Amino acid sequence: MKFLITAGPTREAIDPVRYLSNRSSGKMGYAIAAEAARANHEVTLVTGPVAISPPDGIIVCQVESAQQMYEAVCARIADADVAIMTAAVADYRPVRIADQKIKKNTDNMILEMERTPDILGSTRAEFHFRGMLVGFAAETANIAEYAKQKLERKGCDMIVANDVSKPGIGFNSDDNAVTVYFAGNQQPVEIDKTSKQEIASKLVQLIETYQKHLR
Ligand code: C5P
Repeated sequence: MKFLITAGPTREAIDPVRYLSNRSSGKMGYAIAAEAARANHEVTLVTGPVAISPPDGIIVCQVESAQQMYEAVCARIADADVAIMTAAVADYRPVRIADQKIKKNTDNMILEMERTPDILGSTRAEFHFRGMLVGFAAETANIAEYAKQKLERKGCDMIVANDVSKPGIGFNSDDNAVTVYFAGNQQPVEIDKTSKQEIASKLVQLIETYQKHLR
């Protein structure tokens, strides 16, 4: 199958030398890309700036901002059978990007922000993607409830939820522990704390099984 995977953070420019971003390492998305490629799937990885190297044997598209990631996904999604959105896309960006470096002339400054495009939310609604859609939900409370709401609202087949308030898993960590929720009546699957590589391998298997039996 053809997999399109988003990974990493985005950077939202403030001026030519400054940006807003987050602590996403890209490790989860890169691990899924590696495991999908190992299972002989064709993989395209749309990635924000990260410190790790992509696995061999896949197509890599590097982007910086949420807008660039949105456009890269829009241009490539029609070809995919499975779309997995692991990227930690910035929710807001500065309304204006200053042409010159902003000077520290005042004690306080206010940065006006606007919403970025919701890539996962656009995948069905705007890009009319008909393949299997997998979202991620990083939450700190009411995980099951938020994950199930997100599954429905964004038209996902599967949501991978993790509790980022727990130490040693999630953002920037080598390990993760997730609960996978499915559209329809299929019971959630829990994957206990293990390496992101092991989680990625199990997720690829769950996706393959879902594609074979449940669609
Ligand atoms: O709504 P929330 O940001 O918590 O949803 C997380 C999921 O949505 C992740 O799968 C993430 O990759 C995706 N997302 C996106 N575009 C955004 C924000 C989140 O694709 N602008």
